[in-house]
Amino acid sequence: MDLEEALASLKAQLLPISEVEHCALQHSRGRVLAKPVTAQLSLPPFRASAMDGYAIQAGMHDQILNVTGESLAGHPFQGDIGPGECVRIFTGALVPANADQIILQEEVAEREGMQVRFNAHSPSESYIRPVGNDLKVGSQIADQGDVLNPFLMGSLASAGVNLVEVFRRPVIGVFSSGDELRDPGVEVKDLLEGQIYDSNRLTVKQLLATMPVEVRDLGRLADEADVVSEALRNGARICDAMITSGGVSVGDADYISETIEKLGTLAFWRLNLKPGKPMAFGKIENCWIFGLPGNPVSTIVTALLLVRPALATLAGTVAEPPLRIKAKLTAPLQHQPGRTEYQRGTFTQRNGEFEVGHTGDQGSNRLSTFHNANCLIEVNKAIGNLQSGDWVNILPLTDLTK
Ligand code: AMP
Ligand code: MG
Repeated sequence: MDLEEALASLKAQLLPISEVEHCALQHSRGRVLAKPVTAQLSLPPFRASAMDGYAIQAGMHDQILNVTGESLAGHPFQGDIGPGECVRIFTGALVPANADQIILQEEVAEREGMQVRFNAHSPSESYIRPVGNDLKVGSQIADQGDVLNPFLMGSLASAGVNLVEVFRRPVIGVFSSGDELRDPGVEVKDLLEGQIYDSNRLTVKQLLATMPVEVRDLGRLADEADVVSEALRNGARICDAMITSGGVSVGDADYISETIEKLGTLAFWRLNLKPGKPMAFGKIENCWIFGLPGNPVSTIVTALLLVRPALATLAGTVAEPPLRIKAKLTAPLQHQPGRTEYQRGTFTQRNGEFEVGHTGDQGSNRLSTFHNANCLIEVNKAIGNLQSGDWVNILPLTDLTK
């Protein structure tokens, strides 16, 4: 299965969470709207001045006018203005009902006590914002599936919405697996021969941290069939989806895919993808499970390209395809036709074009290929080695982790 096919299969299977909860607007960043939201009032709710100046009746600006009052933002002028009258007004203030023109204060030729005279000019616009100029009461501001970001949150606040209906965040359990692994924090001198630090659990949790999901750290699975079985069965009861890394190849100590098959169903295993080939996906009871490969680079690439979009779907939002930008290779790139490959690269913008180079030996164990990387370089399965100057697609990491 190619990446695209696997993604389509994941999106088709993972139905969005349907439970809805209420959330205070100020705590809603990153949450997914469960219902469309409409404006509770028009904006501006009253005719408002767009500038500092004088509110007059149209056509009166070439006469000497009596200033009969002031209208400030939050302190409206109460009353009408008549011919020969005007009101001092400021940006955001209510425009008196029978005024239909603001003359800018820059056009004042003379101000003597309560009388004002303007420069001879013809105003190019009224400088009055009509009711609903920004937003009309009842109009839709956002749709189901939209993610609350600072801009949308501001719009909702301005439109009188202070409580939003959002989808429950799916609970995602994160495991690592392997008897060789020790927790970060164990002193280097205390690592026994053959042991390494467990980096995947931390990275996967971090890759989910910006998503509308609730991450549960479920610890590490030992390389024992019974232990894996027990932990996945228990995890499935409390999670909407689980993610494991490691133990998914065909080694003697690889129990993940056989356990998924034993406890539930294995929807697919092995992808035509580099790195990330041994990825497994399935379901245990009502819980989805992603068995990611253990090599740290494979874990990250599959988490970025498959798990995150799949979880976005589960969380009730729409995962747009990642941003792809054309960039010119600054160095040759080795690639065996067969599997689409995602190499780690560093891109820069030069003279209006993007240039990219890979980060060295692309072994899937080498987390150092991410040092200074800011993109994945996509190399289609159909092509072979590439030369300097060839064009490739790059996927910026800022977009893949947003
Ligand atoms: P496995 O598929 O379990 O054989 O793992 C493949 C490789 O990834 C082995 O070299 C493991 O030691 C390594 N690996 C697996 N899980 C982790 C992890 N959580 N952190 C760092 N390396 C890991
Ligand atoms: Mg292992």
